[in-house]
Amino acid sequence: MTIAFDNSWARDLPGSFLRVPPDAAPAPRLLALNRPLAADLGLDLTDAQARDWFSGAALPPGADPIAQAYAGHQFGGFSPQLGDGRAHLLGEILTPDGRRFDLQLKGSGRTPFARGGDGKAVIGPMLREYLISDFMAAMGVPTTRALAVVATGEEVWRETKLPGAVLARVAASHIRVGTFQFFAARGDQEKVKALADYAIARHYPELAGADAPYLAFLDAVIARQARLIAEWMGLGFIHGVMNTDNMAISGETIDYGPCAFMEGYAPGTVFSSIDRQGRYAYANQPLILGWNLARLAETLLPLLDRDEGRAVEIANDRLAGIAPRYRAEWLAVMRRKLGLAGEDAGDATLAEDLLPAMQGADWTLTFRRLDDTAALRPLFEDFSRMEAWLPRWRARAGNGAVERLAKANPAVIPRNHKVEEALAAATQGDMAPFRALLAAIRQPFTESEAYMLPAPSGFGQYVTYCGT
Ligand code: AMP
Ligand code: MG
Ligand code: MG
Repeated sequence: MTIAFDNSWARDLPGSFLRVPPDAAPAPRLLALNRPLAADLGLDLTDAQARDWFSGAALPPGADPIAQAYAGHQFGGFSPQLGDGRAHLLGEILTPDGRRFDLQLKGSGRTPFARGGDGKAVIGPMLREYLISDFMAAMGVPTTRALAVVATGEEVWRETKLPGAVLARVAASHIRVGTFQFFAARGDQEKVKALADYAIARHYPELAGADAPYLAFLDAVIARQARLIAEWMGLGFIHGVMNTDNMAISGETIDYGPCAFMEGYAPGTVFSSIDRQGRYAYANQPLILGWNLARLAETLLPLLDRDEGRAVEIANDRLAGIAPRYRAEWLAVMRRKLGLAGEDAGDATLAEDLLPAMQGADWTLTFRRLDDTAALRPLFEDFSRMEAWLPRWRARAGNGAVERLAKANPAVIPRNHKVEEALAAATQGDMAPFRALLAAIRQPFTESEAYMLPAPSGFGQYVTYCGT
């Protein structure tokens, strides 16, 4: 087969990328091919095609590889030029039913944006992105997808020598808050406008005819991102590196680096080794949502009104709406997780009062077991506050809560110790644990003891790493 490529980015946004081919993997070996995703995209690939096309060993016909430029605030500090240091956008796949997705290789060699980096990636983190993004998709959370992971046959130096890999990533697009910042920081207003027009046409076509399309665009991104972060919070997902270059305009979760799921509920949970201040801690994510969207709004100011003071006023008004918007999304997620039908004025208080009572208790299983005190109690060190809370919940939840809980709350998530076990085995050449874990997280509502239990106490404090 051939892939039906288009290359609208390269065509429409000159000055936003560099043409650069991926490295040719010397001895590619297909580790994982996402067949359900391939089928959804209308791709009928042979293993040999997947191996060669998704490793850089060969370019699929129609590909026009580019590295995209972007800027971004990293841990609060601005870098005017980041860009794809180790990624190549091959082009946009057009599906038979008319959808458009970026197809990008990651770990496919140095680009002029690489700065000190080697342009490479290793097996473990690429398979981690595959696992976690597939779980997000199974849970209906907007996300970029992993189409394949191919071992390159190269050795890559990290702390030690590790087997290299390339990830083929499919995304609604790779337009980031940081892409807007790239042009805004250079004072190139025409390019900011061209980018906004492109983003509207690609992701929010219904806004193209609006009276104030750029304000409507800002509102639409706010709406999608507020919903996304609320979904993350519901799952106990900690992205770990919510820099503005890792926030997608499409509303998809993007850049699975040091991310992980919280086990015992603790609002300050941080897994990433580099997040020493806890900027991207679990409970800070909704605040960072607002912070990042303020950076997007700044880039759009000249498009909001010719009068700068007026533009700032308009933007501030919208930014002030983020917190209540997020809160409404969070409440909707919590109603679902608590198995509540309809809406009641006391729901927010009920949900909020649960949190201090479940300090340290397993985030995932607590919700799933709310209706079964005998199963719930062992998750808690101190059950006394739950004893007070549960009757309130029972009175509100009523009949049918059992089924609703089981439908809303996953039994299986990619637990840190299982993910590590699968990645360690894969690095040693054994893909069986990865495949078994993948099968389990693709059916997150199916109880499966081996994948449901929290990490054994010997697993210790979990630490994740960026940029590997
Ligand atoms: P991230 O922290 O993953 O969002 O990446 C931040 C920036 O570092 C991006 O511009 C990446 O392209 C770049 N980068 C990360 N790892 C590498 C690497 N091994 N080689 C080159 N560039 C990299
Ligand atoms: Mg990134
Ligand atoms: Mg990354």
